[in-house]
Amino acid sequence: MKLANHGGVPAIVEGETIVPVGDPRDDPAARLTSTINHSNLGSGALVRGAPEPLDLAQLGPPVPMPGKILGAPVNYLSHKKEMNVEHTVSGLGFFLKSPSSITGMNGAVPVPFPRRRTDQEAELGVVIGRRASDVMLDDALDYVFGYTCLVDVTVRGSEERSTRKSFPGFTPIGPWITTAEEIRDPNDLRLRGWVNDELRQDASTSAMIYSVAQLIEFMSSVVTLEPGDIIATGTPAGVGPIEPGDVIRVEIERIGTLQVPVVAGSREPHPLWLTREEG
Ligand code: MN
Repeated sequence: MKLANHGGVPAIVEGETIVPVGDPRDDPAARLTSTINHSNLGSGALVRGAPEPLDLAQLGPPVPMPGKILGAPVNYLSHKKEMNVEHTVSGLGFFLKSPSSITGMNGAVPVPFPRRRTDQEAELGVVIGRRASDVMLDDALDYVFGYTCLVDVTVRGSEERSTRKSFPGFTPIGPWITTAEEIRDPNDLRLRGWVNDELRQDASTSAMIYSVAQLIEFMSSVVTLEPGDIIATGTPAGVGPIEPGDVIRVEIERIGTLQVPVVAGSREPHPLWLTREEG
């Protein structure tokens, strides 16, 4: 099943149509999260609305406000090599991005500072489906609601990752969540990332240093994962600068294609930002 956010309403994508679901009496802001929480689509419990053409749908981020976004910092050897860094998730641990950095199709990625390099990172996003604490490796995928395309937008430099990766619009997700039962093995998916017509990233998620299950096992040993939490699983080689006017596109096999434009940020950098990457 493909679960989308259609104007704030949960909706299932079926071929070329999109079908609103959920109880219209629910608080609109809570519908998507409660849909994930109950994972009960298809049970007949939810009201189906009238189908509409998918190509007219205004899709938003399938999780508009996750409780948290957790990121795997260096999780492909090809990216470790291009960044010339010593550590991976082992040694670095994981980082948190602000939930307010979420955007979706029809959103935009603002580049905050022209003098600091801002990169795209195409990644597989994992949406948690049930509370997970200290889960065992063999059970870890049972806690996944589904998978989505994700861009971990990043300002390069020496500041903490959470600072460099948390601007509004810095975590595009979508176009929808493909639920876990459709993805037999999340570590066997082709992932590609373009900026405009340039194919920058092309890898299999089988090249992750730590698998989706290992990431969930590790992260849940520190924090309690909640339904709707999102894991950014790391990016393969091919990150590079983005500029206003660019279009970022991420395509993941069996999931779909997420596309989002890059725009100019409107603010001057706070003086605590170094004016150049390395100061
Ligand atoms: Mn990343």
